[in-house]
Amino acid sequence: MSRKFDVIIVGAGASGLMAGIQAARKGASVLILEHMDRAGKKILATGNGKCNFTNQKQGIAYYNGKNPAFVLPVFRQFGLEETLQFFHELGIYPKNKRGGYYYPASGQAASVVEVLLMECKRLHVRIAYNVGIREIRKETDEFSFHTKQGIFKSSFCILATGGKAAKKTGSDGSGIQYIEKFGHKLTELVPALVQMQGKQSFLREIAGIRAEGSLQLYIEEQKIAEDVGELQLTEFGVSGIPAFQVSRSAAYGLLLGKQVYVNLNFLPELSKEEANALFQQRFLVNGTGKNAAQAMIGLFPWKLNGVLLNESRISAEKPAADCSQKELKRLTQAAQRLRIDIIGTKGFDHAQATAGGVDTEEIEPVTMESRLVSGLYFAGEVVDIDGLCGGYNLQWAWSSGFVAGNAVSCSLRTRRKL
Ligand SMILES: Cc1cc2nc3c(=O)[nH]c(=O)nc-3n(C[C@H](O)[C@H](O)[C@H](O)COP(=O)(O)OP(=O)(O)OC[C@H]3O[C@@H](n4cnc5c(N)ncnc54)[C@H](O)[C@@H]3O)c2cc1C
Repeated sequence: MSRKFDVIIVGAGASGLMAGIQAARKGASVLILEHMDRAGKKILATGNGKCNFTNQKQGIAYYNGKNPAFVLPVFRQFGLEETLQFFHELGIYPKNKRGGYYYPASGQAASVVEVLLMECKRLHVRIAYNVGIREIRKETDEFSFHTKQGIFKSSFCILATGGKAAKKTGSDGSGIQYIEKFGHKLTELVPALVQMQGKQSFLREIAGIRAEGSLQLYIEEQKIAEDVGELQLTEFGVSGIPAFQVSRSAAYGLLLGKQVYVNLNFLPELSKEEANALFQQRFLVNGTGKNAAQAMIGLFPWKLNGVLLNESRISAEKPAADCSQKELKRLTQAAQRLRIDIIGTKGFDHAQATAGGVDTEEIEPVTMESRLVSGLYFAGEVVDIDGLCGGYNLQWAWSSGFVAGNAVSCSLRTRRKL
């Protein structure tokens, strides 16, 4: 294999493959260095193996980071329409599911990886697997990659090594050393889209419950974020999409040593007064001949009923009609503001994304080129941008990968003309 390429990309994940394809389509010779034994391992795990590869709803509101507006010039060049078109041309027929989530019609993430690899092959994008990079150096206009398999050289370098989430898929944070060597700053990395660990002992009793509701995240008594959907309670804490969506903020709060808690609302469609009226009706009007536990049947899952009564200090055996207004007020509060103190997250290994990364102040958003080192580019999760659950992280990977690959090939043409 030749050892000199126009561009060498580190990481054969979503953004690296996209960057390689676009650079090669524009005439660049491309090598991707991957330290795993296969490409796109994380893509295979996405969307429970079905790959939620983008979302109908797009906008800055779905992205986080020190400067979420950084995504705008990137998406202007390669957004939702371009992504659907790109995959359609490769053979991925998109299926729009509930909530605007797009999946391949095959229902298989493997088909997404397969078409990307087929396109790489067609374009002669070389992928070297099991490569251990010791060092990346830049001397004048050339990058050299010192690996266990020898030295590779290129005019341009794209770092697409991902974050630290789910390290078994390859993104183990080892890319950070190259980034820091080039003098780049990283914002603090925390797990995102991850389960949160709670303190309350009642969690053991309600483990396994799934219920529709809303979740509000508070940091130092200030409401920071909110989401609605299926709440999943586990013996260690809270899971489900609403918990995932707010988890990055919880992780940052905990990192700063702040008090973090969530309130769960199992009757989000009712006001406080309406919820209280509902309990009065069930207990005081329809509750004759029933105890408190029986008056709750049919409203929430069985195990949750017990915890809510407990938290309201109402005995399950107490005749429902004998409950006081005060007790029913406490029950309303428990059902609409069940507090769980957050003491941690399940960590990077269980996270779907990483919040934090290369500081966007040091990257040119129109090209994804480093503002510190010319010829060095970034793509994907390695950058301080993280999306919400729903296809937004892959969309960022496709878009930033495209922009980096495209910009590299434009610079290459300019250099060749000189
Ligand atoms: C379980 C799970 C489910 C997910 N589901 C979804 C979903 O449905 N929709 C969605 O939008 N997002 C989802 N995500 C997030 C999404 O997969 C990532 O945001 C996306 O893959 C990031 O792309 P990337 O190219 O930046 O990084 P990655 O896809 O992580 O690729 C990085 C690549 O770089 C390689 N690498 C790392 N370090 C080195 C090194 N030092 N040398 C050589 N190679 C290196 C890695 O092995 C890897 O192949 C999910 C994530 C997980 C873990």
